[in-house]
Amino acid sequence: MAESSTPTATGKKLVIRNIGFCLSGDISHPILDIDTIVVEGDKIAALGREKDLDLSQASTVIDARHTTLMPGLIDSHVHPVFGDWTPRQSQLNWIDSFLHGGVTTMISAGEVHLPGRPKDIIGLKALAITAQRAFDNFRPGGVKVLAGAPVIEQGMVEQDFKDLADAGVKLLGEVGLGSVKAGAEAQRMVAWARKYGIQSTIHTGGPSIPGSGLIDKDVVLEADADIIGHINGGHTALPEAQVCELCEKSRRGIEIVHNGNEKIALAAARLAMELKCPERVILGTDSPAGSGVQPLGILRMMALLSSLGGIAPEMVVCFATGNTAKMRGLNSGLIAVGRQADFALMDRAQHTAGKDLLHSLSLGDIPGIGMMIIDGVVRCERSRNTPPATQVPIVLT
Ligand SMILES: [Zn+2]
Repeated sequence: MAESSTPTATGKKLVIRNIGFCLSGDISHPILDIDTIVVEGDKIAALGREKDLDLSQASTVIDARHTTLMPGLIDSHVHPVFGDWTPRQSQLNWIDSFLHGGVTTMISAGEVHLPGRPKDIIGLKALAITAQRAFDNFRPGGVKVLAGAPVIEQGMVEQDFKDLADAGVKLLGEVGLGSVKAGAEAQRMVAWARKYGIQSTIHTGGPSIPGSGLIDKDVVLEADADIIGHINGGHTALPEAQVCELCEKSRRGIEIVHNGNEKIALAAARLAMELKCPERVILGTDSPAGSGVQPLGILRMMALLSSLGGIAPEMVVCFATGNTAKMRGLNSGLIAVGRQADFALMDRAQHTAGKDLLHSLSLGDIPGIGMMIIDGVVRCERSRNTPPATQVPIVLT
């Protein structure tokens, strides 16, 4: 069962030693030459070489056994409803399954799968506030679900966005899933959201399921949302030339999802590299969706972009961690002092042809997860979902 109350690390000291390889999540400096991390409470207090650090009075010591430590993965695009349940594919414990796929933070792109979802303005505001509160209070497996992302509808006025922001709502659901589909109208509401500190994502491409609609590149450009949501479609992509135009003309986030068109995913990522703006690329699954629930979706996207896309594996890790954290204003996603202690410890999967984790990713194999840590607390050891890691960390004390 998922945890209903979240253990905390207040006042505790965690030491992780014998780190074999450390990926920082920072695209300007993706590899760190360290072997030890010290966590105090829920934040990174120090990192470096073991001999230089104060490891005394640790309440927990983990021997990483020369595995790779990276920030916990951030899924930039999910559709939660309530609890650890999704009606989309009638599944329980799907969020806990994502923890076993390396994910420590999920960002809602709208609680659109709620049966009977209200579409009137007071109702959609009430739902967003309730979802934000509910997931703030409930973290399945310890995973942070940033939810409460209203799907905007025609008739909303500036005061509605102020009310939402005042009530703690920080995200808009995918623009275009509701009745606001025209560029000018979307632009007006996105600007109101931005004015009150609410981030926005726009649906890009053809309709996802019966009832939703096409959002083409002209609407995406005019709306100017913070994130070009699933630029590779969810699942139906815009023509490749339009996707390239979006990358070139907009400066906003380029979100690539698992539940999308793989060919266009590769084209968008490669173009971002060519345009020298790799910091704009972030990854999501867009699950639960018609294609299912993908606990390993972010790892699979990393392997796809590195192997078929030819992008350095340490860079694709940044797409799923530091890039998203910076764009979303999160204090996780980077291995640096003061950041949240959300970690994934992984190793090359058993019997991969890759000689180490990064090499295996570049060959298209996903790594094996040996331990997940959120806010300085061990949440799971060997993953039940990834191929088995060659080495797994152990908790010494
Ligand atoms: Zn969508």
